[in-house]
This record gives sequence, structure tokens and C-alpha cells, in this order.
Amino acid sequence: MPEGRTGRIAHVDLTRGAVEMETPPESFYRKYFGGSAMGMYYILKNTKPGIDPLGPENVLTMFVSLLTGAPISGQSRMCANALSPLVDGIGDAQCGGFFPAEMRFAGFDGLVVTGKSASPVYLWLHDGQAELRPAGHLWGKTTSQVDDALKAELGDDKIEIAQCGPAGEKLVRLAAIINMSNRANGRTGLGAVMGSKNLKAVVVRGKSKKLDWADAKRLNEMAKAGAAELENNGDVLGLQKYGTASVVSFQHFSGTLPTFNYNAGQFEHFERLQGETMADTILKANDTCYACTVRCKRVVEAEWAGQPVERRYGGPEYETIATFGSYCGVQELEAVSLANQICNEYGLDTIGTGATVAWAMECFEKGELTENEIGFPACFGDAGAMVRLTLAIATRQGFGDVLADGSRRAAAKLGKGQALLITVKGAEAPAHMPQAKRSLALIYAVNPFGADHQSSEHDPMVEEGASDLYMGRLKLMGFDHTLTPRSLDAEKVRFALKGQHFYSFLDTAALCQFVWGPAWTLYGPQETVEFVRAATGWETFTLEELLAIGERRLNMLRAFNARMGIGKDADRLPDKFYRPLTGGGPTDGVALTHDEVDAALREYYAQAGWDPKTGNPKAETLKRLGLEWVL
Ligand code: SF4
Repeated sequence: MPEGRTGRIAHVDLTRGAVEMETPPESFYRKYFGGSAMGMYYILKNTKPGIDPLGPENVLTMFVSLLTGAPISGQSRMCANALSPLVDGIGDAQCGGFFPAEMRFAGFDGLVVTGKSASPVYLWLHDGQAELRPAGHLWGKTTSQVDDALKAELGDDKIEIAQCGPAGEKLVRLAAIINMSNRANGRTGLGAVMGSKNLKAVVVRGKSKKLDWADAKRLNEMAKAGAAELENNGDVLGLQKYGTASVVSFQHFSGTLPTFNYNAGQFEHFERLQGETMADTILKANDTCYACTVRCKRVVEAEWAGQPVERRYGGPEYETIATFGSYCGVQELEAVSLANQICNEYGLDTIGTGATVAWAMECFEKGELTENEIGFPACFGDAGAMVRLTLAIATRQGFGDVLADGSRRAAAKLGKGQALLITVKGAEAPAHMPQAKRSLALIYAVNPFGADHQSSEHDPMVEEGASDLYMGRLKLMGFDHTLTPRSLDAEKVRFALKGQHFYSFLDTAALCQFVWGPAWTLYGPQETVEFVRAATGWETFTLEELLAIGERRLNMLRAFNARMGIGKDADRLPDKFYRPLTGGGPTDGVALTHDEVDAALREYYAQAGWDPKTGNPKAETLKRLGLEWVL
């Protein structure tokens, strides 16, 4: 591969204060590609069983890919990995924005961070150079304060900054890595890993925006075709018009808008929270990630209880609206936006935080937690309590100190509320209900980093009523007929696994799942293959190779968990998912059954090539994927 098409990997030893560069061969890129697969390569090579996620022996990686920085939509993503301080086993989270593309322009494809600095530092990557600089003056500052301070210090307002925020400094296990003060590697507590290492920020800047593409003309043609296609794709157009909040009403009417801590699938005040309402009230602008034509990000300005919600913190996504809104029974969009701002300002995952607040509220409603313990009443629907608890978590103040470790640890510490949890492996469930989307029940259970809605394709894409666009694309993946709604039979398991491999590739190639995907997105499977060919020059690259790369990443994540002693026993869904939903609507009375989930797990392990007794990848599976060294 010509020089310039790949960049460097920086190995940052914080204990020694040293940075070493590596330039791997093309064969390494073809096998691991980038993103979290490449991160997992270094984590598997450099960690031992039994390490402390918040100790210096944990390894934090941040990787983009060979596609990042291309002049086409949906390619500016960065994947972070480390042993998670929140969930059992590996942590994994992706972000968008301009940081990922700028990291490539700075000359870097990835970072491998080991050790712990004796005092706070930031990593400054620019034009192929890497240096560690003191960050004591930034410690304790919020994300926007750090953004302003570093731009002034480096005399450049075009730098991009990924940082841990005050929550990460305080080792809040729900902490995220934040860039632009409004984009997050949200899930699995990786901001706390940064904080534990005294790594306040990673700053990137490349003066030259020139990357070497194998076929720049083809990339431009694909970009133009995608922009033209946008008008014909209602799903993606909805994202542009109303952001991810465009799905609030759809979720409500489908009975899949988690409400009152996942007890119901409909929220009577959903109209107050939907994207159309945001557009009519507090929305000030659309925002985007580098070179993306979809522009799905929101910028809002509002006020709630005398507190301003500022534009620089963006606006709430669907997941944020659901977790702080319907999960908590809160209908005030302004209060949800304020909670979103607090998360972005202090560095918190909105899903985990909102869901943890909802759990505390249900505990209060059911008498398991008292006003004395919390410090104030916290009923469902109390927007003030929701905001106070969010800030308390961010700062570890009062009862927030208990909740800061996530709902599962809070329940364990308090010795109550376990039956009200919605966690898998310690990760709070996102706002897509597995009771209705049955394949998600399976994926929530087996996903190596807990309940996650972005690790596979969702059931409606293949179920009766699926559009010609979806089915035409899924045919390329081996699905030539629709499947029965709410089934979890062997064919649905195959759909879940195949979709998981595709999405796993997306998190390896660091691609946005609203733009690239197997069914509903702007570009489908064939175009994704074309993108790889045009960017890299690998004209022999196929969809089978793409899926194998995704499968390789999934097995690396799972093999890491196996090494940490986490396997089949952790593939358990919360009891709540087996209890009938209430509150009316099409999912009223619907619940998972143990029989169907257990049968689906057996079928999944068989199809995935994992040992049915342990849930770990079999040796033959690892060998087939070229991962014999993991054994
Ligand atoms: S679709 Fe949205 S999240 Fe994805 S790259 Fe474009 S602007 Fe970013």
C-alpha cells in the first residue's frame, strides 16, 4: 500500500512519559482494518487476567480506520476500547464528530495508551508528531472550559479534543470520552479509564487535509450518488429533518418507547419529546460530522428552571430523550436538554446515566429508596429530581456518589432494587425494547459489552412489512424472505448473527451506522464493499471478507472476556424483560419467555462457533479467523 494511505500508531506509555511510533504492514490493516478490532489486537497482546480496570495495567485504545477522513458521508468515527470499569469485561464505545477525521489528518490511525502518568497530562498529536504535555491547569475543568483553554494555549481553534471531563477524573463509572463538548464515546465507562490514567485529553491537528485514496474519483462519485439518494430514503431523510428524535413517535405507537424504567412501551406525553416538537421549539440548527451530508446532529437553545441550555452542548439524541424522558416519566424537553448538557459538560454517558436515574426513581416509587437516602423526593415525572440526580452523579455529590457506579453496583451496595434493574453485564439497556424486537433480546444477552442497540440490525428490517429496499439489500446477506414478527427462531438467530457481523465490521471500519449498513441506511452492503475498494485499492475485497472482519472483531472481544473469566453465565437478561409490559398499546402484556431465550442462546452459540458449555469461542473458530495466537 502506498505510503500516505496509512498512518502511524502511537504507543503511549504514561508511566514513562514516552511515545513510540509503529507503522504496521498492509497485511495487518487488511486483517484487522482499524477501529475496535485493531484496538483489541493490542489489548489482547498487552493485558493479563485479573487486572483492575482503573489501574495502570489497563490498556486504552483509540482507533480510526483506513476509511476515516474520506470525502464521503459517515466515515468520521473513532472507536475506544479498554477493560470496562462499568460492565463485566471489555468496554467498547464509538464517537463521531470531527475528531476522528482530524486524527487521520494528524497522521495517526490509532493510539495504544498504557500505564499511568504521575500527574495530569494531555497528548498532543499534530502533523505526525506526538508529545505529552502537562495538564494540571486543566484538571477539574469542564469540557467546554478545556476546549477553550487548549485552543488558546495552542493558538489554533481548529484543533479537535477528546477528553475525560470532571466525571472521568472522579472515576464515575458512567463516564464518557467527550469531543466537541457534544459528541461522546458514551458507553462502558471509558472516560473513567482516561481519568484513572491522569490522561485529561487527546488533542489532534493536521495542517494538510490530503490523504492518499486509491480512487479519489470513484469516492467523489459515490459521495454525489449518496447525496442524491438522500431524498429517496425516508428513514435517513427523517434523521436530517428531525434528528434521531424523529423515531420518538414511531417508537411510542409501536409500543417500544421504554417508559417508567421499562415497565411500559408507551408514554402518554411522547409528543412533548418528539423531534417535530424540538424543531418547532428549541432547535436552533443542524450540525454534522466531518463531510457528512445527512447532518443529523441537533443544536438547541433553551432554559429550564432558570438554567440556560447552551448551543455548544448540541442537543439530545433519541436515546437521551428516552432515558431522561420516558424512562423517568419526564415530559419537559427543556429539562431533558439540560440533563444532556450536564452529561456533555461533565463527561457522562446519557444512556447509562438516564437509566440509572430512572432505576432510582422506580426504587423511590416502590419504597425501596427513601427521601432520606436520596436527599429529596424522586418520583417518576419529577424533572427537577431527574436533573438534580444527573448533576449529583456527574460530581459524585450526595446520593450521586452511589449512583455514579451505575445502577447494578448501586443495587449491590444498597442491597435492594435488584428486581428493578434493566442491566446486562452491568450495562443499562438502551431505548430499544427486546420484548418487541426479539433478536435484540439475544444480542443484548450475548454482546461482549452488555446491552447495546448498535451491534446488530433490528428486527423490523426483515419482518413482514419490510420495504423492498431493506429486503433487496438483505438478500445480499442471505435473506430472501421476511421473518415472522416477534419470533426468535433459528432463522431469526441467523439474522441476528449476520447483522452482528456486519455491524461489527462498521465498528472496525469506524463507519456511521446511519449511513452505512445492511438494510435501511444511505449506502448498503454492496456500496460498503465499493467504498473499501475505492479507498484502499483492494479490488479483490468482497462482502464475505467484510463479514469475516466483523466476525473476527466480535470473537476478539469475546475471547478477551473469556480470558477475564466472563462467558455464558454473564449472557443473562434482567428479570424485568420476562415480566409482561403494562401501560397499554401494542406491546401491553408482552414479555420474553425463558424457553425461547434459552433456545435462541443454544442456537446462537452453535451458529457462532462458540462452546455451548462456556459461551467462549471454540479453538477451531479462532483458528478459522486467523486468531490462533489468542489461544
Ligand atoms: S449521519 Fe449523523 S452521526 Fe452519522 S456521520 Fe452523519 S451527521 Fe454524524
